[in-house]
Amino acid sequence: MAELRIAGVHKDYGPVRALTGVDLTVRSGALVAVLGPSGSGKTTLLRCIAGFEALDAGEIRVDGSRVATPDASVPPERRRIAVVPQEGALFPHLSVLGNVAYGLDRAARRAGRAAAVLDLVGLAGFQDRMPHHLSGGQQQRVAVARALAPRPPVVLLDEPFNALDAALRAELRQDVWQALRADGATAVLVTHDQAEALSIADEVAVMRDGRIVQSGPPELLYGTPADPWVAGFVGDAVWLPAVMDGDRARTPLGALPVTPSAPADGDDQNAPQRVLLRPEQIALVPPGAPDAVLATVVRRDFYGHDAVLGLRLADGTAVAARIFDPASVPPSVGDQVALRVRGAARVFPR
Ligand code: ADP
Ligand code: MG
Repeated sequence: MAELRIAGVHKDYGPVRALTGVDLTVRSGALVAVLGPSGSGKTTLLRCIAGFEALDAGEIRVDGSRVATPDASVPPERRRIAVVPQEGALFPHLSVLGNVAYGLDRAARRAGRAAAVLDLVGLAGFQDRMPHHLSGGQQQRVAVARALAPRPPVVLLDEPFNALDAALRAELRQDVWQALRADGATAVLVTHDQAEALSIADEVAVMRDGRIVQSGPPELLYGTPADPWVAGFVGDAVWLPAVMDGDRARTPLGALPVTPSAPADGDDQNAPQRVLLRPEQIALVPPGAPDAVLATVVRRDFYGHDAVLGLRLADGTAVAARIFDPASVPPSVGDQVALRVRGAARVFPR
């Protein structure tokens, strides 16, 4: 266990500003997901933490002691930080057990640490297999086991599940989460997959163009995104034009209660705004229900556990509604439906 503290970190590659003023604190034993699109600087941040890149400004501390500044850097092998790369990169000539035991001292080997970690990642019984006789998911499990085996206080994972299909990803990330927990490791998981970040992490740090634009618990990011870009990146967004009317926003879906948010200095309360809803906030109600707004179904995406309807209101506004019982309520394209909003909207400047 160890606290990881990153403060004011800058990193340029020639003219490319890969990291600009990154601040991030990861509590001891916590799992933080760094979520951002491709090219936003996620890998660069991990490489700086691991010690593979020198900083241009700022500092990185592990449990209070400085491991990196622009002038001084503890070498990677002395940082006690393990890295799980995107593709496992196992030693092809070593067995599964050989791979996991590779970095262990003799005492840990004798204590059966490698077998214990393999058990933790669901690979008991695979000790003697060679890497080329494993599936992609099994290889990633071995890579995780190898990283965790020496009990590193900090574990960094760089999009480790990318190559796997959806069902396997979900299973593996649960197993990895449990393995990290069992060890009490402090972990940073880099991903461009919002579902992965929201489902696994204690906190999510959203990265864009080399900056962390918002960080916080998954529920907070999803419910109160700091700006429209974050809103759209961490989930599906429905945007409605709005005019404030007291504590409500007048929108094409009616006068909606809004989540209180402090107006920025100089904000004109009567200026046109826009509000954010999530598709699951828009419910189908019986036609004629009070406050219902009529809409036409223009699209229907069926996902089994739910479905998303693309809808057009009478004034032409396009919205989306997530419905959770699509098998029993199957509106088709062209149907008229009635809508009502649940919960509060979040206001943003136009
Ligand atoms: P991510 O992991 O989020 O996709 P990266 O950290 O790999 O992003 O890259 C951030 C930016 O830095 C990108 O613009 C990328 O092209 C650039 N970059 C990354 N590594 C290098 C390098 N070794 N040399 C030059 N530019 C690089
Ligand atoms: Mg990357």
